[in-house]
Amino acid sequence: MPRILDGVAIAKAIKQEVAEEVKALAAKGIRPGLAAVLVGHAPASEIYVRSKVQTCADLGIFSELITPPDTVITEEMLDLVASLNDRDDIDGILIQLPLPPQVDTKALLDAVSPSKDVDGFHPVNAGRLQAGRPALAPCTPAGIIEILKRSGIPIAGQHAVVVGRSDIVGKPAAMLLLHQNATVTICHSKTRDLGAVTRQADILVAAIGRPGFITREMVKPGATLIDVGINRITTREEFDRYFAGNANREASFAKRGSTIVGDVDPKAFELAGAYTPVPGGVGPLTIAMLMANTVRAAKLRRGL
Ligand code: NAP
Repeated sequence: MPRILDGVAIAKAIKQEVAEEVKALAAKGIRPGLAAVLVGHAPASEIYVRSKVQTCADLGIFSELITPPDTVITEEMLDLVASLNDRDDIDGILIQLPLPPQVDTKALLDAVSPSKDVDGFHPVNAGRLQAGRPALAPCTPAGIIEILKRSGIPIAGQHAVVVGRSDIVGKPAAMLLLHQNATVTICHSKTRDLGAVTRQADILVAAIGRPGFITREMVKPGATLIDVGINRITTREEFDRYFAGNANREASFAKRGSTIVGDVDPKAFELAGAYTPVPGGVGPLTIAMLMANTVRAAKLRRGL
């Protein structure tokens, strides 16, 4: 039976550690603070930001939710970021993506002070990560490393194959795995004979954004499968392809009219040595690592 890597439990442990650190900082008169910027009312973004703000409250981190209208323009957003960069009570600035098309997302992310870039998206932090001197690493990739380490899954010397090369997940995940001494291969949409590469993986990270894309034939038996994908499926045909006969999923699909599947076909999990489920695998780590980064930023800014 493959081992299920419980992201909820691992995230809980990290959040407890962060809460302890917050307490220790409070004794020194320091309260880490996060500014969360949410433009407009996209339902998924609202859910994500609300849960980030709630987690701050749970852990004793100050947070401020800023909600510009979806008509906001780049200059107004740049002014907002400049004012947050200047505020001493704000250690982390989170700009929830995606932004409306009239806003220059790159210019905005570049304007965030690297010392407050708790998402780890700024080119300075990307460069530090590559140089092996990470200050604030992107949250989802950092969470992947925590899952592997805290589950006792060896990384050094293993062949890690990362499918996806986004700046947010794939590339930084590959870099972090490399720094843990994995032998790393990065695949993308132009990779030839993808299955031949993924079948070599001891650790396979799927960050593609396509439901059930990694099938059984693409997996080496016994491999560790890290499924980053979050894909909502709404049709009966898709449901039956991935979850036929799964009573729990059936009940929630009937209730909500949709369910979530990762980038790995659930049938491929049966072959794995260990895997992260969707939901409840990588997802919970992203918020936990955001909290850890906020406390880290608060300490680094004060030279602690
Ligand atoms: P992205 O920016 O769209 O990148 C997708 C990557 O997959 C690209 O590098 C693309 O290759 C590659 N790809 C697409 N089709 C492919 C194919 N047929 N064969 C091989 N590679 C292919 O997506 P992302 O932001 O990295 O996110 C990936 C997934 O993770 C999404 O489902 C997203 O919702 C999820 N996600 C989850 C969390 C979490 O907290 N769990 C956080 C972030 C993202 P090219 O570069 O060649 O186009």
